[in-house]
Amino acid sequence: MKSPDRTLDVVIVGAGIAGSALAISLARSGYSVLMLEKSTVHVDRVRGECHGYPNHDVWIDHPVAPGIVLIGDAAGHNDPSGGQGISIALKDARLVSEALNASKNWSPAAFADYAATRREQMNRLRFSVRLLAIYRMEFTATGRERRRRGRERMAADPALALPFVAMQKGPFAVPREAFSQEVWDRLLG
Ligand SMILES: Cc1cc2nc3c(=O)[nH]c(=O)nc-3n(C[C@H](O)[C@H](O)[C@H](O)COP(=O)(O)OP(=O)(O)OC[C@H]3O[C@@H](n4cnc5c(N)ncnc54)[C@H](O)[C@@H]3O)c2cc1C
Repeated sequence: MKSPDRTLDVVIVGAGIAGSALAISLARSGYSVLMLEKSTVHVDRVRGECHGYPNHDVWIDHPVAPGIVLIGDAAGHNDPSGGQGISIALKDARLVSEALNASKNWSPAAFADYAATRREQMNRLRFSVRLLAIYRMEFTATGRERRRRGRERMAADPALALPFVAMQKGPFAVPREAFSQEVWDRLLG
């Protein structure tokens, strides 16, 4: 792409955490980068004690198309009560930067590892956040009893707590088995 006075290597749309981190990384590698931002006002994520936000997941199956790679929230985000949004945004920027630096072939295949890593980490976190929602936000007698049983089982077998640890330490800091159907059934059964 050509701007009036130079050729651009990469255009980044959105100067949030993900876009800014990627822009810095690519500029340091010598690429010519244009960053476009629609707003000049920083938006507070949470404002006031009555503020709410939707506890939902948003995602797409494949964040890559010819000439385009989605990163950060644009590539999908989980219910924000699970956290990890900023570290995922920064990791996306790192993985895409590494892929761009690894080869001049910028076809969608060059970003296959990025897409697979992202899919796996979002699946793991979605598992954790669904558990969290059931554990923290079911205010019925059945919900209380389920929490009590689950806590007892976690005390007896600390490996059952690993899906919760993933929301603090990151989805790849705990083994894949922590997100199995068996763990789910033992925590909620
Ligand atoms: C209520 C709430 C609480 C959160 N708390 C945490 C937390 O405690 N810890 C944590 O790690 N994460 C948290 N997150 C998640 C975290 O804020 C996001 O995952 C992270 O900011 C994503 O960064 P991003 O760069 O992808 O997107 P953003 O930070 O949203 O940046 C996107 C940018 O793109 C710009 N833009 C959008 N469309 C266009 C366009 N068409 N043209 C040009 N510019 C455009 C926007 O103006 C914005 O500046 C929270 C999120 C919410 C909603």
